[in-house]
Amino acid sequence: MKVTWPSPEYDSIIDQILEKLDKAKNIFTIAHPYADGDAIGSELALYHYCKATGKNCVVLNFEPVPEQLSWLEGYDICTDRLPEDVDFDLAILMETTEARRMGDRVKLFDRAKFTIHLDHHINVGGLGQINLMDEKASSTCEILYNILEKTGVELPKACREALYVGIMTDTGNFRYNNATKRAHEVISKILGKDLIVDDIYKIVYENTSLSRVVIHGLTMARTKSDYNGKIVSSWLKLEDFEKYNATEVDADGAIRNISCINGIEIALLFKENPDNRVKVSLRSSGNIDVMAIAKQFQGGGHILAAGVTLPGCMEEVKAKIIDACIEAIKAYEDKK
Ligand code: 5GP
Repeated sequence: MKVTWPSPEYDSIIDQILEKLDKAKNIFTIAHPYADGDAIGSELALYHYCKATGKNCVVLNFEPVPEQLSWLEGYDICTDRLPEDVDFDLAILMETTEARRMGDRVKLFDRAKFTIHLDHHINVGGLGQINLMDEKASSTCEILYNILEKTGVELPKACREALYVGIMTDTGNFRYNNATKRAHEVISKILGKDLIVDDIYKIVYENTSLSRVVIHGLTMARTKSDYNGKIVSSWLKLEDFEKYNATEVDADGAIRNISCINGIEIALLFKENPDNRVKVSLRSSGNIDVMAIAKQFQGGGHILAAGVTLPGCMEEVKAKIIDACIEAIKAYEDKK
């Protein structure tokens, strides 16, 4: 069930969650693959809450924690396996962009007596026994804060810092339209003298390696425009990553540099994957629902930021996606 904060339905789900959280001794938390700031932030915030309240919390994460986040207190306790000898009372899934994306990881839920799913992604089906699905929340960290606030526990710095980073990164450093009044209210409650926001900003956004700068530069230099400048796109091949000793994580955010070009409707970044597939990032400047385009190819995400991975070579995938984008822009223009 989808709910919006504040409402009696929301409160009632929070009460049910608090009852489970209060009784649980052994908890684990999991998020979607390639966890981002909000996914890792919400997992670690729960971990620090549990630590402060005498509960055991295992944080599952299967890929390396991105460099911009591997300073958050507790990032190094993330593990890719659950201890066999622990009976888990509770598992909490902190967001997935799509149920299918969890793959076999959902089976880990069988290890817990009870399951909860918190999410702010659109059209994601709840995978837990209790689901708090709030599409209007800026982030899963905001939803988690709504829960933790009601415990009355004074949240330790590490917990508030993880929440801050989740909200900050999912709102593009408070620039996107999900940087709502509520998101700012939560920030005002978790900020204290002990959270130095410009230090956090620098470490998240200005903590850049040479490989990352070069990969971003390459993306910008290759920018090509289609459909009278309404679509801009760029690409990265496997050989680029090898040549500049860069990883997928270094390319993170590269699309931002081209999605700010004036007059565009859609920005696209195509990244070659090792398994003969191409990862596509889609960004809309406001008029076009790029999630709907990604969904045509079994991808997903949000209306203004979506992604999909397709089999095929770069040129085939580019042609398919650019054609679909042109169709979407034409449909929008016809309706105007
Ligand atoms: P990005 O382009 O930054 O990887 O992703 C933008 C948004 O689309 C994020 O919310 C991300 O989780 C979602 N997304 C990216 N790739 C996929 C995908 O293959 N499937 C789905 N459902 N969502 C994706």
